[in-house]
Amino acid sequence: MKSFIKKQEYNYIKKCLYDLNNSFRNCLDSNIIKVNKSCINEKILNLFTNLSEQEKNLLDITKITEPSYINNYLSNLDQYVYGMPALTSTQIIKLFKKEKNLKLPDLDKQNSKNVYLGFIDKSKKKLFVAYNINGTLLKMTCRILDSNSKNTHKCALCNTVGGPNKVAFVSCVCKSGNSKKGSYRSIGLHICLDSKKCNERIVSTEKLEKILKDVNNIK
Ligand SMILES: [Zn+2]
Repeated sequence: MKSFIKKQEYNYIKKCLYDLNNSFRNCLDSNIIKVNKSCINEKILNLFTNLSEQEKNLLDITKITEPSYINNYLSNLDQYVYGMPALTSTQIIKLFKKEKNLKLPDLDKQNSKNVYLGFIDKSKKKLFVAYNINGTLLKMTCRILDSNSKNTHKCALCNTVGGPNKVAFVSCVCKSGNSKKGSYRSIGLHICLDSKKCNERIVSTEKLEKILKDVNNIK
């Protein structure tokens, strides 16, 4: 069986099983657990179209009868998970060609099961994001803005909530269709500074794609 689960789908399944774990632990009525389970199973299967019987079987959570099975289930699924294709240093340099002396991420550590590639150049105070939409590599360069506030904010990509050292406010200059001098637009957003963790939590790429299209002026 080939890898057929996108990383964000796997994260979604993980989240669903967290809910299942909660209902195992907090719910005494076995009928309610049963209903919950079939509802969660439905949600998981609905992520996919054209599943083979074998794949459906693999995803089936109704066989999970106690919380201790959950980890096994997840690690078994993990071998069928895929992320964006790993990038070479040449590709990254080309993508961010406007950046002088870009400090490249540790490519050996680049997990091939990433939804997006995110890395920080501390000396530039910038977070770089690359993502593959239907074979086209899109990028954004986010300037990390200093914040004195201790308020918590929500990451636009994975919805996690954290203080400014975890979820920071960044600004990205958008490409403009209008090449007239002085026309310049930027957007601000909150985003996780730890892209590795963000990649473990992101359950949908809808927002990421919307932001990237906006930044790259793609209609
Ligand atoms: Zn995040």
